[in-house]
Amino acid sequence: MSEEHEDNAGGTASKKDFIREIIDADLASGKHAQIVTRFPPEPNGYLHIGHAKSICLNFGIAQEYPGARCHLRFDDTNPTKEDTEYVDSIQADVRWLGFDWNEHLFFASDYFPQLHAFAIQLIEKGKAYVDGLSAEEIRAHRGTLTEPGKPSPDRDRPVEENLDLFRRMTAGEFEEGQYVLRAKIDMASPNMNMRDPTIYRIRKASHHRTGDTWCVYPMYDFTHGLSDMLEEVTHSLCTLEFEHHRPLYDWFLEELETPCRPRQIEFARLNLTYTVMSKRFLLKLVESGRVSGWDDPRMPTISGIRRRGFTPESIRRFCTRLGVTKYQGTTDVSLLEFSVREHLNEVAPRALAVLRPLKLVITNYPEDEEETFQAVNNPEDPEAGTRPVPFSRELYIEQDDFMEDPPKKYFRLAPGREVRLRYACFVTCEEVIKDETGKVIELRCTYDPESRGGKSPDGRKVKGTIHWVSARHAVPAKVRLIDRLFTVEDPHAEDGKLEDYLNPDSQETLEGCQLEPSLRQAPMGHRVQFERLGYFCVDPDTAPDSLVFNRTIGLRDSWAKRVAKKR
Ligand code: ATP
Ligand code: MG
Repeated sequence: MSEEHEDNAGGTASKKDFIREIIDADLASGKHAQIVTRFPPEPNGYLHIGHAKSICLNFGIAQEYPGARCHLRFDDTNPTKEDTEYVDSIQADVRWLGFDWNEHLFFASDYFPQLHAFAIQLIEKGKAYVDGLSAEEIRAHRGTLTEPGKPSPDRDRPVEENLDLFRRMTAGEFEEGQYVLRAKIDMASPNMNMRDPTIYRIRKASHHRTGDTWCVYPMYDFTHGLSDMLEEVTHSLCTLEFEHHRPLYDWFLEELETPCRPRQIEFARLNLTYTVMSKRFLLKLVESGRVSGWDDPRMPTISGIRRRGFTPESIRRFCTRLGVTKYQGTTDVSLLEFSVREHLNEVAPRALAVLRPLKLVITNYPEDEEETFQAVNNPEDPEAGTRPVPFSRELYIEQDDFMEDPPKKYFRLAPGREVRLRYACFVTCEEVIKDETGKVIELRCTYDPESRGGKSPDGRKVKGTIHWVSARHAVPAKVRLIDRLFTVEDPHAEDGKLEDYLNPDSQETLEGCQLEPSLRQAPMGHRVQFERLGYFCVDPDTAPDSLVFNRTIGLRDSWAKRVAKKR
């Protein structure tokens, strides 16, 4: 776990982070009367858990400060990579996380006319020029961290000529790459971003919103700060890799003498162990079919973890626990899993379900009889009450809950041993039936009628309590056991390709699981704790009479144990 969490775990979670301290000071000094933040995704992929950190920060601030607001702005300046599918999914994900931009939905592409006018202003001021160097030549002229760049031969092109060429670029007279518009700043700046960055380029591509209106498109750095300015954003919060872009962000605002001056503040991005958050890599997983889609329950995308059964509340709690700092670290994914488990423990109703069934027959229970026992819906929530669970002569128990030759600390069922069937009664294993291969296929037991309800009739103790489902009443289901997508803690740190470290066992599908009948009509997205097994959620692949569940998370952190065992 990185330092920042230990800070919070140590009890300083209520202390304001450095960004909120800046905001407090700006309000106190009268610099701003109203706070405006924004979340600015590029619509070139689905949002992931890293974006959730930024969403919780930006929208969280808007919720906390009276009169504050947070804009959702699509930074859609790259027509070749963007798609309305992404625009729609991003909106759905932000809403699902529990946030609302109200009427403040914006697209950088809506500012193309203004941005174009700003570019012309810069040309007129002698602060931008049209460059005929190729992309490769521009790169070669840029210099290195230790050597200054070389000015382009076009750097001192007269203003009139620049205006004419930019007009003709805009009119589509040139090919892609033939010309670019560059800011004229400082080819010797120690900050490479200030060495005459490109601000407009030719792209003969249809844009998902502006169609074929434009064939020149503004670059991200130019667009971003000016869009913030146009929306009167006060605090432009971004991740640390933009720190070296801040001088450029400020340069555009200064040179254009804009009335509003947003302040860019950087914070550490979220990195998680066993997780890759690069949109490019996630897209590759989707396109290569390694996962079933952006919303595959193994994906670190918001749509993936939603499908897997994570709750928005648990993600928000996780982000609060993370805090906001400038220290770049990697967060243990078990902190996220803890937050999910903690919240589901509070809200998920319980149910009895058997994933790998083994038949158990109670020989002294009449064949034509049945009864119900009351099971507690949620021990964490006294209001949740109880529900009846049917019981009969033939039951299913978990294969794991029986061992013919148990080791010392195994307290579940074994030949001659008595255990409690949760909520129901005590049973003793009298006989073990095997098939011709020697596999155990049935247990014959007797029950103590005096132990009905699962209580000891005479104070005698049983050490094990196991779960069960009545065979006659059980609802069959398919259950996907979801595990981590990668086998190594930091896939980026390894020598091989990221794909080499994908966990081949990240999903196991169990057929023929048996559930208590109350789950027969469980709706899509329904979250439940299968007692002793973990938290599960109904998958959209569910069809009438064929339930599909995903395991959201186990009850305890079993991964660490398993890894230790493998070594
Ligand atoms: P790319 O730039 O490769 O498209 P990105 O992850 O930066 O990917 P954006 O759509 O630009 O995607 O991100 C939107 C916002 O979310 C940005 O403000 C960005 O700083 C923030 N963000 C992205 N990844 C993380 C992360 N891992 N932790 C915190 N914030 C993030
Ligand atoms: Mg980005």
